[in-house]
Formats: sequence, C-alpha cells, structure tokens
Amino acid sequence: MAPLVDRKKESKNNFLVNIGILIDPLENSQIKEWAFIVKDSLQKELSGLFPQFTWELSILERHDFPKALPKDPLTLLEFGSDIKIENNYDFLLVLTSLPLKARFSQGINAVPSSMLETAIISLSKIFECDKEGIKKISAINLIKHVLGHLWGLDHNESSVMKPRKSWCNEQTLDWNSEEKNQIEDFLNDVADPRVEETDSTKSTFLFYLRVLIKEGPSLLRDIIFFRSWRMFLNLGRFTAATAVSIIFLFLSAEAWEMGAAIQSRWLDYILLLVIIASTLSLYFGQNLHGIGQSDKMKEQAVRSRIILIGTLFVGMVSFWLNLLFISFIIINFLPEKVISGWAGLGNSDLPVFHFSKLMATFGILASSVGGNLEEEQDIKAVLIYTEET
Ligand SMILES: [Zn+2]
Repeated sequence: MAPLVDRKKESKNNFLVNIGILIDPLENSQIKEWAFIVKDSLQKELSGLFPQFTWELSILERHDFPKALPKDPLTLLEFGSDIKIENNYDFLLVLTSLPLKARFSQGINAVPSSMLETAIISLSKIFECDKEGIKKISAINLIKHVLGHLWGLDHNESSVMKPRKSWCNEQTLDWNSEEKNQIEDFLNDVADPRVEETDSTKSTFLFYLRVLIKEGPSLLRDIIFFRSWRMFLNLGRFTAATAVSIIFLFLSAEAWEMGAAIQSRWLDYILLLVIIASTLSLYFGQNLHGIGQSDKMKEQAVRSRIILIGTLFVGMVSFWLNLLFISFIIINFLPEKVISGWAGLGNSDLPVFHFSKLMATFGILASSVGGNLEEEQDIKAVLIYTEET
C-alpha cells in the first residue's frame, strides 16, 4: 500500500491536492502524448488560479484496462474509482481517445461522478475539431467543466460550466469568481485529513461511525441534492412495473377489503418496513454493494457506499410520495359507493388518505420486484453518473 500523505505538513502549509490521470498505454500512441499535454496545462492553470493549494498531477498507466468498445463510462468509473482509492488520489481523470458509450443522451464527451470523485473523458470528438491549434484549448475547457462537477459546481450559462454539445472552441473558458470561491471551499474540505489518516481502528463498525460523525452533514447534502428525487424518471421498466400493478390493485376488490382491515397505525409500520426492504433488495439485487469494494477501510469508499444506499432510500421515499399523490387523485375520481362496497364499509365515509397510503405502499412493493428487472447497469449509472456531457 502506498504511504499515506501527511497533507497538513505538505510544502509550507499549503494543502496538497493530488489528481491522477489514468490512461491505457496500449490504446494508441496519441494517448500518452495527450496525457502529458493535459497534465502540464492543468498543472499550470490550476496553480495560477488556486495558488493557495499545492497541485500534484501524475500520470498512471495501466495495462488491465477494460477493453470492450465503445468504452463504457460505467465500467471505467468503477475501474477508475478502485485505482483512485488504492493510490490515495483526491481525484482521478480517466483519459481515453476512443468514443464513449452513451446511455441517456447522444454522443457524449465525458461522464463525471462526484460520488466516486472520478471522471471519464474521451478526446475522440475533440480530435475532430477542425483546427489543430484549438484541440488543446478545447480539451482543457472540457476537463475544467468536468472538474467543476467533481468539485460540486452546477451548470451556469456564463462560464466554463455551461453545458455544450461541441467543445471545439478557440477561447480559453474559465470559472467565474463566485465559482472559484466555491471550489476553494470545497477543496479546503477535501484537504482535511481523511479518517484513515488519523484513526487506526480495526473495527469496520467504528470506522463507519467515525466517517458518519465527521462527514454527516456533507453526506446528507450529497444524498438530498443528488438525483434521488428524480431517480425513477430515468428507469422506464421500473416505473412501468409499478404503474401496471397499481392499476390492477385499484380494480381488485380484495385490495380494498384488505385496506379496510388494516389499522392505520399498522400501515405506518408496514410502510417503513416495505421501504427499507425494497431499498435493500435493490442494493443487493443490483450488486451495488460491489462499488468501492477495493478497500473497506477508506473514508472515500465508505462515503460512496453510504451515499449510494442513502440515495436509493430517499429515491424510494420520493417515489412513494409520488404514488401517494397519484393514488389520492385516482380515488377521488372513482365512484365512492362502489369502493365502499368493495371495501365492505357499508354507508360509512371512505378514509381516502388511508387507502391512498395503502395503494402507494403496494406500489413500492411491486416496484422493488420491477426494479430488479431493470438492467443492472442502468440503475447503477443513474445512481453514479453526475451527468453525461
Ligand atoms: Zn456539465
């Protein structure tokens, strides 16, 4: 294992930020040359923009790169994130000259994952820019956009953070001053010693606990502001399975009868159980526990895993809230007399909210089965990708 860096004492109290650039030397002769170009330009730019940090960029060559074509960003992200953790990099850029496989959009240049602090960058479209001189500028602009995402920035029309279809550009693009401040705050957090550098506990449980105590608020922020809330919009089969099962439930008298028999208090417990069980069923059913497996006792690996399961959980809760809303509307449209008859309620009032809750809970149950039908890779990508750009 590489020796841990004592960040605090590094070069005259400047915090050290180290970025790895990972390439497959067998890809072609161009890629090595470009790795050096990227390393030198970034080193110069970042040291100029953020002199308060010591920037250490290094090129890493690996011969065991995943070889399948087109390059799948998801496979490369998992491959890269393990290497990042092994080598104690703060961030890792995986550079390739080959095209990337697009999942949610068309023709992509790069896929950053702020969760894994790793980004995949393909230069294949940059190589098609018409003038030789603008290739280098375009490549660095693209990489700055991607680094911006790794450092917590969102899109912005007036800086390098503007999303673009083509990155061919003669002009050097930059972060604006507000974004630079945000980056500085973000990097100051990263430069803090990691849990494994200050703590020598051998117990996995204690290690998780220390990470939770140290990183709690930032973990929560990542989970809530990540795409958990709209996770299911990207998962077609998952949502379809839920919709179909809910329609059948609405049309079956047994479901209504059962709803009338379950007490509201019990329904709350059942709901909590169902949400936890379906989160775990997706997590293990889709092999998500394999992410960050290379080293269990590294803060970054533990962080990724907590964010992953937290995001799934919040995604499930938000999905349930959506189903509750839809069920509530549908029940209000159905003739009350028929439903009361099905539920065996006689002439007493129909508890609309109770039945909406019940239907939404059944929906979640169905969805966790449907979710496991979804391609494993797509669920992983929805959770891990920050974007396809
Ligand atoms: Zn972007």
